[in-house]
Amino acid sequence: MNLIRKPLLLSSVATALCFSNAMMAQAEQLKVVTSFSILKDMVEQVAGDEAVVSSLVGRNGDTHFFSPSPSDAKLLKDSELLVINGLEFEGWITRLIEASGFEGMTVVATDGAVLLSNEEHDDHDDNDDHDEDEHHGEDEHHDADEHAGHDHHDHGEFDPHTWQSLSRGAVYVQNISAALQTARPEAADALASRAAAYIADLNALDTKLKAEFSAIDQHCRTIVTSHDAFQYFGADYGLNFVAPQGWSTASEASARDVASLIEQIDEGGIAGIFVENIVDARLVDQIASETGLGFGGVLYSGALSETDGPAATYLTMIEHNAEQILSALQAAEASGACEHHDDDDHDDDHG
Ligand SMILES: [Zn+2]
Repeated sequence: MNLIRKPLLLSSVATALCFSNAMMAQAEQLKVVTSFSILKDMVEQVAGDEAVVSSLVGRNGDTHFFSPSPSDAKLLKDSELLVINGLEFEGWITRLIEASGFEGMTVVATDGAVLLSNEEHDDHDDNDDHDEDEHHGEDEHHDADEHAGHDHHDHGEFDPHTWQSLSRGAVYVQNISAALQTARPEAADALASRAAAYIADLNALDTKLKAEFSAIDQHCRTIVTSHDAFQYFGADYGLNFVAPQGWSTASEASARDVASLIEQIDEGGIAGIFVENIVDARLVDQIASETGLGFGGVLYSGALSETDGPAATYLTMIEHNAEQILSALQAAEASGACEHHDDDDHDDDHG
């Protein structure tokens, strides 16, 4: 009889232990809020069970356009740590912090990352001298009244889409890890080792992608996306991204920008056109049909996909985007689509 009863007893003790561990872990979990889904994933990768993480802007959400609700303010007030991208990406965050009464620590994930400035990638729009505020009245994609007073963030000094570079993503992870260790010093060793393992994964993917993109023809490295979210990715792998819309989905592409882009596509040398998960596809569809440019698929720019989608985590998002872009470039290379068919002596009139 003892032989039967003993394992039963052990298992109930084990259950009780598990239960009490879970309760303790829950009581001690750090409450973290992130501005958008990519940061939430990064924090979860490093924190493991040490934190419970919520994101203000969810999966497939557009952080450029976000109107925090009273429940967002409550969520923030009840948290100990806020992680944001910075670089004016979250134009609404300052007001939310003030309104919420949040008294915790704020981490700016881009701190210390090597940044790309406004001018470095603005090469398709050679005449961007119109008053930026004019864009506000032209906004058709979004309800301008609903967002009245919303800080526009597309004219900051630096391109905010820094997470699109894996090496800079590693800087995000270091900043997140340091903040978590400050908040939970007793778990510092575990946090540091999870961060190191995660950064090693980011570095391994970066090395793999560098090798894959280096094999692409130098003349077949330009693609079109909806808005300018991939300059960091382009800088890492020697690709050119052109977009009819600026950095922010909040500013509308001008007719002139679109015409200039169509002209550039007609001259050849562009391998494919992509839509983004967070941006209305109509403009890209229009450009693709007017130019006959091959449609490459969906890229994830400023938000993760749903958990069952192709970009459920930061790492799989970068991998998915890279695969989509690589296959478009390879197809264009194989079909000869990148050869310049403009062999008259027009000079490049794009900048
Ligand atoms: Zn963006």
